[in-house]
Amino acid sequence: MSEVRRNTRQRQVILRAVRELGCHPTAEQVYDRVRSELPRTSLSTVYRNLGVLADQGLLSTVAGAGKEVHYDHNREEHCHIRCSLCGRICDVDIFPSDMEGFPPEDLSGFILQEVSINLVGICPACSGKMEKEKTV
Ligand SMILES: [Zn+2]
Ligand SMILES: [Zn+2]
Repeated sequence: MSEVRRNTRQRQVILRAVRELGCHPTAEQVYDRVRSELPRTSLSTVYRNLGVLADQGLLSTVAGAGKEVHYDHNREEHCHIRCSLCGRICDVDIFPSDMEGFPPEDLSGFILQEVSINLVGICPACSGKMEKEKTV
């Protein structure tokens, strides 16, 4: 297989993995997922390809998600909620452009490029675990 075709295939597999993983995976989660299909792919290759896919607009990265970069296949306007315990990120149906008086007019002279709202909470899996610990 030619280099170009191999790279294209790699990227398709990686993009599909992000879609299938759904909940905004990190590069390491994507790497775990594609390893069986792309046994010779390294974590740094996965990182690089995720970067290319983001540059091409096929993926976006989740803003304000903490240290690790999380990737998102949903290109529609939407916001996120992140679990403060396990870091899992889900979509929430808030549309900043529908909100009255938002974004505000006074932006300290900034030119607005993007609006995102990030909520933080405790996910059902973590709150379930906390409940269980309480009863023990
Ligand atoms: Zn959690
Ligand atoms: Zn999302």
